[in-house]
Amino acid sequence: HAKVGGKNRSRFYDPAMSRTLIRRREIEHELRAAIQRDELSIFFQPIVDLESGRIRTFEALVRWFHPEKGELTPDEFIPVAEETGVIVTLGNWITAQAARAAVHWPDDVSLAVNLSPLQIKAPGAALGILSALREAGLDPSRLELEVTESLFLDDNHATAGFIEALSSAGVHFALDDFGTGYSSLGYIDRFPFRKIKVDRSFVSGPNVGRKSEAIIRAVAEMGAQLDMEIVAEGLETVDQVSAVRAAGCTLGQGYYFSRAVPDYLAAVLLAQERATEAVKRTAV
Ligand code: C2E
Ligand code: MG
Ligand code: MG
Ligand code: MG
Repeated sequence: HAKVGGKNRSRFYDPAMSRTLIRRREIEHELRAAIQRDELSIFFQPIVDLESGRIRTFEALVRWFHPEKGELTPDEFIPVAEETGVIVTLGNWITAQAARAAVHWPDDVSLAVNLSPLQIKAPGAALGILSALREAGLDPSRLELEVTESLFLDDNHATAGFIEALSSAGVHFALDDFGTGYSSLGYIDRFPFRKIKVDRSFVSGPNVGRKSEAIIRAVAEMGAQLDMEIVAEGLETVDQVSAVRAAGCTLGQGYYFSRAVPDYLAAVLLAQERATEAVKRTAV
């Protein structure tokens, strides 16, 4: 029968093995080398103040430019990195790289980094993040870690200890993709989230309607009561922007404002914003 991926692999060939499984194996193997080969890079997507229109935060989103497979999305390789444990090395590298870019931004612009649950449970996880910040020279208060509800599925000491250690160092937390998981209000109560990011599925897609608008409104109401900011994800049209504003969201993120861009373009976006403001201030 046909060989797959050269002579070394034919021994392992199983006709039942799906293409996706083969691809996963390749990704696992290559991901370990990808950092050294400089194939990964961090892109940045602005999170915008819906009142002033100013960029308040850039979210770091990892990209893999594979020499043969082309651009791979995080949804393809982050799960593989999690299953294989590569996520710990990868996660620390991502935080370090992102922090190195963020030190060049104005002090009032923060950096958001996504964390995988497995990363948090690794020994020394909190120290790894703090030392990445120290090396880059980024103040911990400028970092915001985005975690999802899945983190709390097996609620344990490791998670609480991690959040506690970083919070007391000044790092902020945001609850990502809110509304897609178990959405228990218990951990909003127990953990110090500064932001809640309402999942994109409430903003755009086939199921969006009066119900999803009411849900956003209720979450925004809760945010206001608890002094948390509510971010609407996935804003693609001006109508969506005005809808989530009307519902009470204070921050927005999505292609309508900008896609994730390389670090030099993030700096350009910020420079343009400052220039516009400087001109406004000097206007007679
Ligand atoms: P996320 O943290 O919820 O990030 C938002 C995702 O939505 C990003 O996809 C972003 O490009 C996409 N997005 C932003 N605005 C829009 C929009 O207007 N329309 C649409 N259709 N999509 C929009 P991306 O970069 O492919 O990342 C997917 C997920 O992979 C992220 O979801 C996050 O969970 C994970 N991820 C990305 N980077 C990292 C990372 O560095 N570490 C970890 N652990 N996970 C990451
Ligand atoms: Mg995120
Ligand atoms: Mg999200
Ligand atoms: Mg997501």
